[in-house]
Amino acid sequence: MRKFSGTRLLVATHNKGKLEEIADLLKPFGVDVVGAAEMGLPEPVETEDNFIGNARIKAHAAAQATGLPALADDSGIAIDALNGAPGVYTADWAETPQGRDFVMAMTRAHDALEAIGAPAPRTAQFCCTLVLAWPDGHDEVFEGVMPGQVVWPMRGDQGHGYDPIFQPDGYDITFGEMDRWEKNRISHRADAFRKLVAGCFG
Ligand code: IMP
Repeated sequence: MRKFSGTRLLVATHNKGKLEEIADLLKPFGVDVVGAAEMGLPEPVETEDNFIGNARIKAHAAAQATGLPALADDSGIAIDALNGAPGVYTADWAETPQGRDFVMAMTRAHDALEAIGAPAPRTAQFCCTLVLAWPDGHDEVFEGVMPGQVVWPMRGDQGHGYDPIFQPDGYDITFGEMDRWEKNRISHRADAFRKLVAGCFG
């Protein structure tokens, strides 16, 4: 496992919220975090059919373009009865000409489960893959998961994306009903970050 030994890390995201969250997390290690937008980097096309492949594309493109170690993530929800769909297409299921519509995406997931008469519990996992890539082509990969089930109807107005239909194992509330602090403590993203920090920053 290669350790991060520099002081500057490029985070290959154009999402300001994600960038701030990662900067906070890595502050104790003296890491100065720079965003992809700040460096004028384009968003590469995600052509792979799995989370690791897409996170690798983003991390390596950013490391090559800047000469800095780069961290990228890819995430989504995989529903077992739908053979892992929407998976890497989680955000795509929400796309409309007017922007992302997650009520539509959640309804599509529920309708697909109804159409095949999937029995309860409709098990699913939120997945988060993090890739730290160096300009010399080396990378380290970390995967986080949060197992749970898809429920219907939607519940709760906290969080984002598919949170209102995902009930994590061990809870009787959805991510949409859970306070942000608690969700960020147990989530797939927290799991992946714990592994990243232990592996490369510890
Ligand atoms: P990306 O990782 O930015 O490509 O986005 C993946 C998609 O997965 C997002 O559009 C979110 O809708 C969904 N997603 C990822 N993590 C979560 C989560 O914690 N809650 C709800 N939706 C999520």
